[in-house]
Amino acid sequence: MKVCVVGTGYVGLTTGVSLAFLGHEVTCVDLDQHKVDMLRAGKCPIYEPGMEELLAEAAPNLSFTTSYAEGVPGADVVFVAVQTPSAADGSPDLRFLRSAAESVAQSLDHEFTVVVNKSTVPIGSGNWVDAILRDSFAQRADRPAGVEFAVASNPEFLREGNAIADTLFPDRIVIGSDNPRSLEVLNRLYRPIINQTFTPPTFMPRPEDASAVPLVSTDLASAELIKYAANAFLALKISYVNEIGQLAAKVGADITEVARGMGLDQRIGSRFLQPGVGWGGSCFGKDTKALVATASEYNLEMPIVKAARDVNQRQRAIAVERLQDELRILKGRKIGLLGLAFKPNTDDLRDSPALDIASLLLARGARVRLHDPIAAERFRREQPELAPHLSETLDGVFDDCDAVVLVTEWAQYLELDWSKFVGLMRNPLVLDGRHALDGDRMRRLGYKYLAVAG
Ligand code: NAD
Repeated sequence: MKVCVVGTGYVGLTTGVSLAFLGHEVTCVDLDQHKVDMLRAGKCPIYEPGMEELLAEAAPNLSFTTSYAEGVPGADVVFVAVQTPSAADGSPDLRFLRSAAESVAQSLDHEFTVVVNKSTVPIGSGNWVDAILRDSFAQRADRPAGVEFAVASNPEFLREGNAIADTLFPDRIVIGSDNPRSLEVLNRLYRPIINQTFTPPTFMPRPEDASAVPLVSTDLASAELIKYAANAFLALKISYVNEIGQLAAKVGADITEVARGMGLDQRIGSRFLQPGVGWGGSCFGKDTKALVATASEYNLEMPIVKAARDVNQRQRAIAVERLQDELRILKGRKIGLLGLAFKPNTDDLRDSPALDIASLLLARGARVRLHDPIAAERFRREQPELAPHLSETLDGVFDDCDAVVLVTEWAQYLELDWSKFVGLMRNPLVLDGRHALDGDRMRRLGYKYLAVAG
């Protein structure tokens, strides 16, 4: 099928490259000329394991452009995967989506095109995009006859760092539309994934337990709500274990053991029960905020979701409190932060806990040294105020340091030869913000080991 993807960020690029790999003819449109130039040269503008390899394998079916006129005409499906950041009042800022929809309408010329909201958009956005498309199309002096289109929602559940596997071997695919033909088209588009009939990329074998992928084919509003409800649930699972972690710390229980004991119950499940400094990234914060904002439009409170947000914010402050309790005075202390990306295997810094922790420490007069194996370059560009505190080397972090905080559990830190660094520190205190290090081993190596909770 002929596909156009608007926006080549984490979501759009993964969608476009994966669909081209599956044999669809894909054109990706992005207004960012630099990104398009990089992608045309086979270079990936984001850090995403496997993406450059998949780009190479999908290349015969894939092109990149800044022009909608090269992507939209003739497309059976147009995915819109632009960013939807939070506006000042917590509701999603839909300016990018509006502009993309207006531009799509200028180039629609096919007998039937499904325009798919792949971005995470508030409930009701499908209708809103439909209205923008119809208004913009109607105003076209050159509008061709016999053109039909309909809007669908196809929320994205990929995890950065695991984006390709999550797309080719997903837990489920959700499509929603009030137009039955749109659902048929999307069903056909995703058949190879649903039935798992494609040959996997050379570098990514099909998981042994991979089986047919459940398809949830529903109405527009339900698909839109599924995305928010799922994200908020994952967020509150993390906040729940962190709240229990605070009690564990008071009563002398080990939160890691508590989480393990809980997670083995199949009704609960062990994933997203990892205690620590909490969630970050571009989605959980924004989507929980948007859910609360949408509910308030309908005069509904969302106390559970609100509490999950508060607990998450508190975790970042608790990391600083733990250091304060141990070091007594933070002024003048040198504190190293290991990990700036919001989670391992991505260079995404959006709403990363490290940003708040660094700022809180600086506000209390501490000196901070920041390190990340992959995201440092992006950090320098995106965080100019904090960038002077970056350290290129681990020696530069540990040297004469009063405490080191593991903020992002990169494999590089977990597999570090920690014995080499203990002697460099003025005070060998390690605060494990992810409960990811072996505390007993760290103590044997001479560190004072603390975890954020428990
Ligand atoms: P992103 O910021 O990485 O990418 C957005 C891209 O859209 C950018 O390259 C930008 O240049 C481009 N763009 C903006 N306006 C445009 C326009 N009018 N025309 C063409 N291109 C335009 O964003 P992302 O992380 O990929 O997220 C996209 C959406 O998907 C958001 O709604 C997000 O909430 C949702 N989502 C993200 C993830 C994730 O892990 N990142 C997961 C699930 C859902």
